[in-house]
Amino acid sequence: MNDCLFCKIINGEITSDKIYEDEYVIAFHDIFPQAPVHILIVPKEHIESAADINTGNSYLTAKCFEVVSLIAKNEKLDTGFRVITNSGKEGGQTIFHLHFHLLGGKTFDRVGD
Ligand code: AMP
Ligand code: ZN
Repeated sequence: MNDCLFCKIINGEITSDKIYEDEYVIAFHDIFPQAPVHILIVPKEHIESAADINTGNSYLTAKCFEVVSLIAKNEKLDTGFRVITNSGKEGGQTIFHLHFHLLGGKTFDRVGD
């Protein structure tokens, strides 16, 4: 766990452009934004990826989506937004601590286009 970048952000070892934090979830701006709004929503518990969501920890994913909804309102993404989670190497995941990309401020193509 010690070499996990997002755990280091959560415990304050590495700084981030944090916009939200509670007991379960932290959210901060992505360092390489892919859209005008690009925020990462991260459960504080180290869950490796979406493949590791289970009955015991799925409430944390629900907490993350409550934060998605809150931040989307704060960022005034009233006309829509996209939430993505990459899972595993073939899924394009580069940081192996579960997180949800909240992307907005532009019109996205259909998934797969
Ligand atoms: P993924 O590739 O889906 O695992 O997403 C990892 C995301 O973390 C990428 O979009 C990176 O730009 C972002 N990222 C990497 N390092 C940092 C950092 N120190 N602070 C904020 N975002 C980061
Ligand atoms: Zn971690």
